Amino acid sequence: MIKVKSAHEIKLMQEAGRIAAAARKAAGQAVAPGITTRELDEIARKVIEGFGARPSFLGYAGFPGSICCSVNNQVIHGIPGDRVIKEGDIVKIDVGADYMGYHGDCADTFPAGKVSEEALKLIEVTRQSFYEGIRLARVGQRISDISHAVQQYVESFGFSVVRDYVGHGVGSELHEDPEVPNYGHPGRGPRLVAGMTLAIEPMVNAGVYQIKTLKDGWTVETADGRLSAHYENSILITPEEPLILTCCQD
Ligand code: MG
Repeated sequence: MIKVKSAHEIKLMQEAGRIAAAARKAAGQAVAPGITTRELDEIARKVIEGFGARPSFLGYAGFPGSICCSVNNQVIHGIPGDRVIKEGDIVKIDVGADYMGYHGDCADTFPAGKVSEEALKLIEVTRQSFYEGIRLARVGQRISDISHAVQQYVESFGFSVVRDYVGHGVGSELHEDPEVPNYGHPGRGPRLVAGMTLAIEPMVNAGVYQIKTLKDGWTVETADGRLSAHYENSILITPEEPLILTCCQD
């Protein structure tokens, strides 16, 4: 069931979104050769807690971190730990904030020092694919109109979209209906109405779209070992332009 949010709920989600975005920004600015993924996790957690919120991911289905931190060929759900970031790595930071029972969910991919041309292009295309998708996030469109726009854009650069993980509704639950795939034919799925809140999150692979999950039960990697990038914002469907909830105010 898709939950359409009230004005009060939207206010809380705007606050949760700002907090998640601030944590993403702080952790992203700290990405550099020599830092560990655990240190990035601590930076994000402190920002979230500083706003009186709680990291949405911590303890979610038993997840041990406050952020998901996935490096290079890791797609999503990397567990923060002792891994030291090296020059040329690309680092995905996915972060959620729970503010008074409502969640903001966002992610981005950050280069550590100088990275390859391919990595830069992958990051840029992944980010832009979100904006291609959100153009269709309007009253009267259907969910798969967003999905199709993301896929078309990504594949025009020879990259691929992950199929096994998708975007989602977000609200009082971190993951709500509907699913928001990053692929598919247009004109399918629920019609968008004002007050829906969605996390649109393209996961884009440089090579094949297939993925595999590591023995830790969490970390998802590309099947071919090539790079992957991730970009995500929580958004609100409005009668006019869609509103990005996970944006920093400054
Ligand atoms: Mg998400």
